[in-house]
Amino acid sequence: MGIILDRIKYGNETKKDILFDNPDSYGKVNVDSDKCNGCTKCVNECVANAIEIKKGKAVVDYKKCIYCRNCIGVCDKLAIEMEHDCKFCDIEQAGNELARKIYEKFKRSLVLRSVDTGSCNACMLELSATQNTYYDISRFGVKFAASPRHSDGIVVTGPVTINMREALIKTYNAMPEPKLVIAVGTCSFDGGIFKDGYGNVERLSDIMPVDLYIPGCPPSPQGIVYGLLKLIDRI
Ligand code: SF4
Repeated sequence: MGIILDRIKYGNETKKDILFDNPDSYGKVNVDSDKCNGCTKCVNECVANAIEIKKGKAVVDYKKCIYCRNCIGVCDKLAIEMEHDCKFCDIEQAGNELARKIYEKFKRSLVLRSVDTGSCNACMLELSATQNTYYDISRFGVKFAASPRHSDGIVVTGPVTINMREALIKTYNAMPEPKLVIAVGTCSFDGGIFKDGYGNVERLSDIMPVDLYIPGCPPSPQGIVYGLLKLIDRI
C-alpha cells in the first residue's frame, strides 16, 4: 500500500527517501543489562554463537547475529529486544577517516563488482533490489560492473568456499588501486550458520582487508544502501 501511495505522490516508482524509518526492518539485538541475570538461556538458544556472557551479562555480537529472534522468546526477564533500525553497518579500519579518503578518491561515485562466494542467494536478492526502480541506488552514483578492471571495489556475499576462493582472489587482484572490499551479510563476516561446513575456508578478513561490513541475514536493501552511501560520504 505504501508503495502505491508513493507512486501517486511522486508520479514514479522511485522512493524519494530510501532511508526512511521502516518499522518492519530487523535491527540490532540489544540486551538490557539491568534486567539480564546472565542465566545463559539465550546463549544456548543462539545457533549463530552470537551471544556471550561477559561480566555476568549477555553481550550480542551483531556481526554474527542472524536476526532469527529466538533469544528474545527465551528470555524470562524480557532483557532482550530488537530494534527496527536496519542502518547499522560497520566501517572498519579508520571509520570516518576512511569515508573521507574514499570521498576524495572516488568523488562520490562507486563502481562495484559483486562476488558470490557461496551464499544461499538471500543477500544476492537484497543486493540486486538496491538497483530496482524503488531503491534505485544508481542515482547516487553507485553502479555494478561486469569486470573487476572497471571497479573500485568488490561486494562479497556468502561464506568463502573452497571452490570460490581462487576466483575471489583473482577478482580482487584484477581491480586497480585503491580498491575496497565490502562484506554483505553475516556469512561474509565469519561464515554465519555455515561456518562449520566442510566446504568453507577461512574468514574473508583472513584473505583480504575488509573496509565495510553490512550485517544482516540477509541485510535489507535499505541497510545495504545505507552502508554504501555512508562509505562514499553521501549521508
Ligand atoms: S537473534 Fe538469533 S542469532 Fe541473533 S543473537 Fe538472538 S538467537 Fe542469536
